[in-house]
Amino acid sequence: ILRSPQALQLTLALIKPDAVAHPLILEAIHQQILSNKFLIVRMRELLWRKEDCRRFYQEHEGRFFYQRLVEFMASGPIRAYILAHKDAIQHWRTLMGPTRVFRARFMAPDSIRGSFGLTDTRNTTHGSDSVASASREIAAFFPDFSEQHWYKEEEPQLR
Ligand code: ADP
Ligand code: MG
Repeated sequence: ILRSPQALQLTLALIKPDAVAHPLILEAIHQQILSNKFLIVRMRELLWRKEDCRRFYQEHEGRFFYQRLVEFMASGPIRAYILAHKDAIQHWRTLMGPTRVFRARFMAPDSIRGSFGLTDTRNTTHGSDSVASASREIAAFFPDFSEQHWYKEEEPQLR
């Protein structure tokens, strides 16, 4: 796959505060990324300001869990990745499993959320849900990143 990086799809993955707070869970999720042959294009750890959380999750404004979600996402460090894979968006969402913890536990017990999710809000991870949202979300976390040219800036073996 490294011979034709242009053919790779990109997605934004987040490890949420509940999972970053537990080193073994954080490491287990990171290992899942590696063992599923994602290319880690960028990675950073940060504390999110509430206003950035609100903007990121604006599609959920007005839902009963919106305020809870914003408070949670700003409650501790998160880790953001740009992941590349032939089918990055769907592949990462499948690995994460269903949003709601009950569904995750029973329908996808081996998924990341099925294994480590605590509640419907504290569900370990985020993944972009479309090409358009991946672009928007990547730009939110990595404003200097160029989707068109990223592979030219990487190590020589990627060219
Ligand atoms: P996903 O993260 O799977 O794309 P959504 O975009 O629907 O799910 O929701 C964004 C986030 O909001 C979820 O990951 C979860 O943290 C929180 N959330 C979603 N639905 C609920 C719910 N019914 N109750 C509590 N929190 C929720
Ligand atoms: Mg979503």
